[in-house]
Amino acid sequence: MRLVLQQMEWEILRRRDSGPEAAEAEARKIQRALARIDHGTYGLCSTCHSPIPLGRLKDSPTLAECPGCQSPAVDAVAAG
Ligand SMILES: [Zn+2]
Repeated sequence: MRLVLQQMEWEILRRRDSGPEAAEAEARKIQRALARIDHGTYGLCSTCHSPIPLGRLKDSPTLAECPGCQSPAVDAVAAG
């Protein structure tokens, strides 16, 4: 998963087709996901600490919250 995230980060920083600000916001989400891997909390909801379904993480690896806690707008980009 770490490699997937690092590849994503690289792709995003390389493309920057949605503007530098959007690219940096995406890159920050990836860096936070990498930090969660380091702390052993990756895949756990940052709000309620329950495990995030693996299918959801495969769709959007930077997901920080479970579907129950996630606000509707967050990570909608990754679904398209
Ligand atoms: Zn939650």
